[in-house]
Amino acid sequence: MDDRMRERRALEVRRARQRRRRQQQIIRRTCLAVAAALALVITAAVSLSRIRKTQAGETVKREEMQGGPQTVDTTYEDLKDPAGGDGAGEKEPVNREPVEEEPEEICVVVDPGHGGKDPGTLWEGSDGEAVYEKDINLEIALKLEALLKEAGYKVVMTREGDTYPNLSERVQVAAKNQADVFVSIHQNAVDNSTTITGMEIYCNEASNRKSPDLANAIFDAVLANTGAKSLGVVTDSDFVVVENNTMPACLIETGFLTTPGERKKLLDDDYQEEIARGILEGINQFFEENPVRS
Ligand SMILES: [Zn+2]
Repeated sequence: MDDRMRERRALEVRRARQRRRRQQQIIRRTCLAVAAALALVITAAVSLSRIRKTQAGETVKREEMQGGPQTVDTTYEDLKDPAGGDGAGEKEPVNREPVEEEPEEICVVVDPGHGGKDPGTLWEGSDGEAVYEKDINLEIALKLEALLKEAGYKVVMTREGDTYPNLSERVQVAAKNQADVFVSIHQNAVDNSTTITGMEIYCNEASNRKSPDLANAIFDAVLANTGAKSLGVVTDSDFVVVENNTMPACLIETGFLTTPGERKKLLDDDYQEEIARGILEGINQFFEENPVRS
């Protein structure tokens, strides 16, 4: 080989090396570009799914706070694509599994009339014996509380013992608890008769147009259970707890403490239980006809 040949060979070798280097560079750059593009796609997919999860989480939380199944539809609406498709070309299916709900709870406020410093009406015997309205009211109310809880209602008592919440406090308890219905329990007494018997129920139709439905349902069931006489339904009562409550509300007078036979019944556990059961049945009936959240 002469010098020229050697030079040419050396030049070819250099050129071949340069070509290889360029090819390797191109491959490296292509690989980098592909990797970068892939990373971008993955990042976008991850953040998209995170956003969707957050949205779902928020609506579930809102639904839990509000309670009640009507918000479930709203939840699904939130997740739905307004155009009608599920996320415009998104392959990921929208989760349509029903969101776990808390059981629907209807709130009943039970108000044992009077209490504490206020005995209500009373009967006093000649031997110093006395029957106070506040005690009978509470005994019936506690029985009603147990029955309502057993039936799955949420029950709020305006008093659990011998205390005196005033009338506006009782109304406030119902408002604060967003009561679905309010039932007040009372006893009657008269000065001029020892023979009058029967029950009365009071409500105020102007305060809530469903109050007469509640009053009638309760009254019918209590009368049927006890065999007591009806002395009528008053639908324009101005008793504070029926006039100032905004939910369906009523006040029942379950008998006369001043009438010996009726007093004896009202002191009897089984008779009290029948009254309580009648009130429960009336409430059940009312909610069958007037579902709270439909
Ligand atoms: Zn009373």
